[in-house]
Amino acid sequence: GHHVSSQRVRFQRRIRACRYDIDQFSPSFLSIFESLVPSEEEIAKQNQLLIALSRLITMEWPNSKLYLYGSCANSFGFSNSDIDLCLSIDNNEMSKVDIILKLADILQAGNLQNIQALTRARVPIVKLMDPDTGLSCDICVNNLLAVVNTKLLRDYAQIDRRLRQLAFIVKHWAKSRRVNETYQGTLSSYAYVIMCIHLLQLRRILPCLQEMEATCYVTVDDNHCAYFDQVDKLNNYGAHNKETISSLLWAFFHYWAYQHDYTKDVISIRTGRIISKHMKDWTRRVGNDRHLICIEDPFETSHDLGRVVDKFSIKILREEFERAANILQYDPNPSVTLFEPY
Ligand code: ATP
Ligand code: MG
Repeated sequence: GHHVSSQRVRFQRRIRACRYDIDQFSPSFLSIFESLVPSEEEIAKQNQLLIALSRLITMEWPNSKLYLYGSCANSFGFSNSDIDLCLSIDNNEMSKVDIILKLADILQAGNLQNIQALTRARVPIVKLMDPDTGLSCDICVNNLLAVVNTKLLRDYAQIDRRLRQLAFIVKHWAKSRRVNETYQGTLSSYAYVIMCIHLLQLRRILPCLQEMEATCYVTVDDNHCAYFDQVDKLNNYGAHNKETISSLLWAFFHYWAYQHDYTKDVISIRTGRIISKHMKDWTRRVGNDRHLICIEDPFETSHDLGRVVDKFSIKILREEFERAANILQYDPNPSVTLFEPY
């Protein structure tokens, strides 16, 4: 009687609301992706700056080496983003802070501008602006794990082009909606890329490189980093899966809005699976780590990339995931509405 008919009304309403075929929006999402990709010219400028700074620094410290890391090297960087550099240096006489201060002096003498030594940050850095290229960058010291995870992300991006497309759009959404601000308790760009890799692993579009026979080994502090890095041999890996960028985008937000079990699950690209909070002993708050959304770092496995999230920001994040999932499902113009500024 009454129950059945009200259910039918709901059902009809749902059909009406779902009339949009999600795949028709792929071209507009792809053109947003294209508009965010840095140009060849910009990449050349970044390399020019890397070479110039390397020259300057190795004059003082001949055994040091400067690495690009972060978004300008992991292939998930937007155009006009800042450059992250890491100075690798073996120096037992100087503390990290001393190295940072000395580095600031070297850069000053080399005519770089807006130099600031941030020695009290969690990761101490020197900030600078290069007047020749107009680029700004941050230099950290001996943060080699970040150099290794940068390579892992870049290697994953080589396997299937949909990873780079998906992660760019997710990052663009996160920046537009102001949920890419770790100092406000939301997630880093690095965490969002890991979330995208995980989704594609579950859909067999990407393999799990750390579960394959290792061809690349690096030990950083106590972390043994090993994985299969001959990704040119895997370039057909996900071809059997024909999902388009817009359906993957929907799947991403639907997963984080409605499917992820926030009380029990940890996502892990190291294993290519969902593992349990219980197993990692991430079930309760320890110090400042609340483990309200759990994203395992691929190499530093005791590190939860969601640890910055608190009881207020988790609510904001989950509401934004739901908003995005609903837009992709019901909105007539999702490639506009999704990115409306918060
Ligand atoms: P954006 O385009 O937003 O600048 P990004 O890739 O540079 O993106 P960040 O979150 O600024 O992202 O991180 C820079 C790099 O630092 C990452 O690529 C990663 O190598 C490293 N990194 C960032 N956050 C963490 C973290 N919580 N744990 C380990 N490494 C991290
Ligand atoms: Mg960055």
